[in-house]
Amino acid sequence: MEHQLIQSIIEITRARDTDTLETSLLSTLADILPISHIAMINLLDELKLEKCEQTLSLKVSYSDQNEKVRIWDSDIRPLELSPEIATQIHDRKMAATSSGNETKVYVPLFDDADPAYLLELRSIGHDLREHANLIEGIAGIYSNFLKVLEDSQRDKLTGLLNRRTFDKKLVRMMELQRKVVEDYGDSDADRRTPAKSEYAWLAIIDIDHFKKVNDVHGHIYGDEVILTIGQRMKQFFRNTDLLFRFGGEEFLVVLEPMPRDRARMALDRFRDSVEAHVFQQIGGITVSIGFARLEEQDYPPEVIDRADKALYFAKEHGRNQVANYEHLLDEGLIQARSVASGEIDLF
Ligand code: GH3
Ligand code: MG
Ligand code: MG
Repeated sequence: MEHQLIQSIIEITRARDTDTLETSLLSTLADILPISHIAMINLLDELKLEKCEQTLSLKVSYSDQNEKVRIWDSDIRPLELSPEIATQIHDRKMAATSSGNETKVYVPLFDDADPAYLLELRSIGHDLREHANLIEGIAGIYSNFLKVLEDSQRDKLTGLLNRRTFDKKLVRMMELQRKVVEDYGDSDADRRTPAKSEYAWLAIIDIDHFKKVNDVHGHIYGDEVILTIGQRMKQFFRNTDLLFRFGGEEFLVVLEPMPRDRARMALDRFRDSVEAHVFQQIGGITVSIGFARLEEQDYPPEVIDRADKALYFAKEHGRNQVANYEHLLDEGLIQARSVASGEIDLF
């Protein structure tokens, strides 16, 4: 047991990003405890803990040959916690329920002071409360390590995700998107249509004439503008959208699947809200935004390149506006990168 425990700590601390860390925590606990099911739950709202969602789960069962069979599920599933469990979690305590010979244990995980995630462990025929110290100990190591990894994925000035994490986060988002399309594909034809017409979108937001802000007011004021725009993005976009500070004064947003008009409207409202904000000393600031559709088989630099082309168009045509790559292409306002035969047009 001691050896297994050390091995599991090594396994957890081997992770270099939060998604791998999550997988390794579930897998480790499934190795060392007699559990039938373990799930990671995202607590969406610290004031309403009851309404949450499962983000990853692992089911453990045994085959006829008595071999352990593990089934992972990474679909996002809405969950409702009982008020008693929610109250205990709110008080930062581990909670447990049992019915028949099944026990369920809930352990809060913290990223800062508040519980941010919840671990749910189920066992049939074993009372997991006997392992409370072990479970809480591993949860504590996980929480501390999560904090370190989350810090390393974020930009220091704005707290948005940094460029280093972009590829991985984008690939994961695209996997989820593929799943949505597949799931809709299983059901009736009526539901298939909207899913197919809804894509995720990548937008690049670039501050207009930002060099001037630095030149006239100095870098400190420039940084203040970057910070304010980062904060506005966090307030404005949904917590399921991915927000990055990608370079100096460039930001990226990956919007959840939605129709193009809605994506444009959301981005335009954001552009509008920046324009309306009064920055003390500096006065008004505007941003230009280019966005493009995330194709199923996209390679991250390709979609960035398309959004960047739209951004360039917005910059060339007066700034303080939103441009969409596919629309510009349809209207013949920009040239496609690939020729009709589908080959890349190298020049
Ligand atoms: P445009 O409207 O065409 O985007 O004009 P621009 O002046 O914003 O041009 P560009 O995007 O090329 O300029 C980026 C400038 O942003 C260059 C650099 O001085 C400044 N910058 C980049 N990173 C930072 C940062 O972290 N802090 C501050 N204060 N300035 C930065
Ligand atoms: Mg720029
Ligand atoms: Mg700029």
